[in-house]
Amino acid sequence: MNAKDRARRIKMIIMDVDGTLTDGTILVLPDGEELKSYNVKDGAGILLAHLVGLKTGIITGKTSKALEKRAEKLKIFEIYQGILDKKKALSEILEKTGLKPEQIAFIGDDIGDLEVLKSVGLAGAVADAHPEIKKICHFVCSHPGGKGAVREFIEFILEVQDKWDEIEENFKILTEQKEFKL
Ligand SMILES: [Mg+2]
Repeated sequence: MNAKDRARRIKMIIMDVDGTLTDGTILVLPDGEELKSYNVKDGAGILLAHLVGLKTGIITGKTSKALEKRAEKLKIFEIYQGILDKKKALSEILEKTGLKPEQIAFIGDDIGDLEVLKSVGLAGAVADAHPEIKKICHFVCSHPGGKGAVREFIEFILEVQDKWDEIEENFKILTEQKEFKL
């Protein structure tokens, strides 16, 4: 089955954080606090997915308060932080949502994502992902992590599902109601 046929069945998009939603950079302050930067294009992509009823989630190995805030702002459906076994977190999400593995898309960048990527309907890799990850993914982005890869992955799914008219319509309604904020 090709990536387009896989993308047609997707109802939820789950993302890794470091190296996927970020470029992998972590700035460590003297007090030990960590800073990361997120890309507004990826954030807007997540909001577009929500506009047409796709669910989103995050599964990350690390834990960060800032990520919690970012996820809250973007209304990300499920957030799993400090997760070593990402496949187990995926099972919990499947149980909670009633979705099947083939209805899930996951995008990641490194070896920690390998098992979960092998378990989902549509596996995506950022352009600068580990070669072993790229090898098993159905869709390899042309953008690197933190630089629009998540946006590209989401737009691929939206395009295949022919969602642009619906997005335009819902976007118009929400901007009139001033409810679409990046
Ligand atoms: Mg990563």
